[in-house]
Amino acid sequence: MVTGPRVGVLALQGDFREHLAVLAGLGADAVPVRRERELDLVAGLVIPGGESTVMDKLSRAFGLRDPLRARIAAGMPVYGTCAGLIMLADRVLDALPDQQTLGGLDVTVRRNAFGNQLDSFETDLAVPLFGGPPVHAAFIRAPVVEAVGPAAEALATLDGAPEGASGRVVAVRQGNLLGTAFHPEITGDTRFHEHLLSLL
Ligand code: GLN
Repeated sequence: MVTGPRVGVLALQGDFREHLAVLAGLGADAVPVRRERELDLVAGLVIPGGESTVMDKLSRAFGLRDPLRARIAAGMPVYGTCAGLIMLADRVLDALPDQQTLGGLDVTVRRNAFGNQLDSFETDLAVPLFGGPPVHAAFIRAPVVEAVGPAAEALATLDGAPEGASGRVVAVRQGNLLGTAFHPEITGDTRFHEHLLSLL
């Protein structure tokens, strides 16, 4: 029997199933969220990786954009990975002309920041918030945080790999919002998800 907190994963598009599996493995009552009435029942939310332009369009088509913005403003804990980080960013570079985000994180992110040659890569990241061993992180057509505004805090920066990208911010937080440019759900590191659960 699941007795943990009910956590949603925005399931409009992208790798929501992997996040549901990680959260369930941590004992949470993990449920997909596609409708406002499903959003109303969760205490926290993961916005998965995928394609932010599509997720934006679908969130508007499903009438979820305004309810999501309201919950974020009300302090619901939310963790966005990759496209999910883009959805949480207040400012986006290389967005489509009509692309909107939900916002909440005082950061500027650049979509597809690593170009074609480095479409995908894996690397180890020190995350001082967690201590312990580095996080093994998978980047897939990933954004990068170009600027961290005064309200947000950088949690991790690239170090060494890929070449030329050292010092670039790839994980941030602000209040109850958490965002990573990478996908811990596919490399088996559960610490970001555990951190989300600790905020509930
Ligand atoms: N490039 C995608 C976007 O712009 C993000 C990729 C991902 O989520 N793995 O939304």
